[in-house]
Amino acid sequence: MGRAGHAGGAGERSAIVVGGGIGGLAAGAALARGGWRVRVLERAARFGEVGAGLSLWPNALRALDALGVGDQVREQALVETQAGIRTKSGRWLSRTDTRELARRFGPVVMIHRAGLFDILRAALPAGALCADTRVVGVGLRNRWVEVEHGDGVSRADLLIGADGIGSTVRRSLWPQAPAPRYGGYTAWRFVVDTGERLPAGGESWGRGERVGIAPLTDGRTYVFCVANAPEGQRGPDGELAELRRRFGRWHDPVPRLLAGVEESAVMRHDIYSLPPLASFVTGRAALLGDAAHAMTPNLGQGANQALEDAVTLAALLDAHPDVESALAAYDECRRPRTRMIARRSERIGAVAQWHSAPATVLRDLMLRMTPASALVDALTPILDWQPPGRDGPTAQAV
Ligand SMILES: Cc1cc2nc3c(=O)[nH]c(=O)nc-3n(C[C@H](O)[C@H](O)[C@H](O)COP(=O)(O)OP(=O)(O)OC[C@H]3O[C@@H](n4cnc5c(N)ncnc54)[C@H](O)[C@@H]3O)c2cc1C
Repeated sequence: MGRAGHAGGAGERSAIVVGGGIGGLAAGAALARGGWRVRVLERAARFGEVGAGLSLWPNALRALDALGVGDQVREQALVETQAGIRTKSGRWLSRTDTRELARRFGPVVMIHRAGLFDILRAALPAGALCADTRVVGVGLRNRWVEVEHGDGVSRADLLIGADGIGSTVRRSLWPQAPAPRYGGYTAWRFVVDTGERLPAGGESWGRGERVGIAPLTDGRTYVFCVANAPEGQRGPDGELAELRRRFGRWHDPVPRLLAGVEESAVMRHDIYSLPPLASFVTGRAALLGDAAHAMTPNLGQGANQALEDAVTLAALLDAHPDVESALAAYDECRRPRTRMIARRSERIGAVAQWHSAPATVLRDLMLRMTPASALVDALTPILDWQPPGRDGPTAQAV
């Protein structure tokens, strides 16, 4: 066994988590709280700044509370007080009733990803996170799992594949699983220091293009831009020039935000999602987060669902007498829920990315006529999730 290899001591249950993203770190922390000996294997050598924001909805904040880090996250996050959808000229089409949403479910917050990573990393036991450790293959044996990585082969009682949309664990153990598919649009993200807290966030929708603005703490603002584009296309003279060309004449403060950012701060990713899997579990292995259900980002729920996965899995392992029955329960409650959310997210993305003039006029009219309360109601099945207790998931968690 290599540097990352271990087996649990007498009576101690051991788990290997592949991937140290939000899902993998949360799973590692949740399992460690339940008494598991955990190793999180992450291929990246260093943990750099992740230059983007992240929306955390009340469901994810409850999951973070279950991990014991909810208050730390709230301290670093900004509560969303003004949000909604505008036209590219800045006219409000719909406003989110953030007060009512907070009253019914709790507030929505925005956090810098780097802040969330720091908190989740600190929640792991010392030495649990093995950086610079790329997993190249995994195998299931009768009573244990084997994980092959740069330093050798490690064994454990349980394997969690939290290695993202291109998951090596999924490709090894679910060879029939369909490949991720391109959504037809691409996204740019950056964080810019505006030195002021912008009064309102939210999205602005044009024809086949969108901009999202989310104030963060300390006068920084997270911006994302989305556009229909062929897969793999890149800005001919750089991504910032591409953004300024596309969005430079949108309503204030979009041009100001684009003027204040540097090219090196702009990230661009094409948007993919994972077609539904027949199961999230096999033998003593489970998939979690994007490895299991990568979804389009239109609802801002991908990482939120990874956090739900992590605390649910740990609670079920705690409540069930054996790993196999816990994993079966995990699959039964997480697959339908994440599917429902992925489908909704895809539908919102399709409408938000409409390009034809008549369709977007009709869409904007519908948005103007939809009461704010209907939007809050529509979010209920997503936001009313509760972490499972020691006896397994509640009806709401399913
Ligand atoms: C434009 C955009 C905006 C988004 N906005 C939001 C939002 O506001 N709110 C929200 O909840 N979600 C959002 N998401 C989705 C969110 O980013 C993902 O759902 C989330 O990061 C998934 O976390 P994960 O840990 O499952 O996977 P990942 O973040 O992909 O982490 C996987 C980790 O595994 C590691 N890894 C991969 N392969 C190996 C290997 N072989 N060996 C070892 N390590 C490996 C990777 O290096 C990585 O660290 C957004 C996504 C996009 C693209």
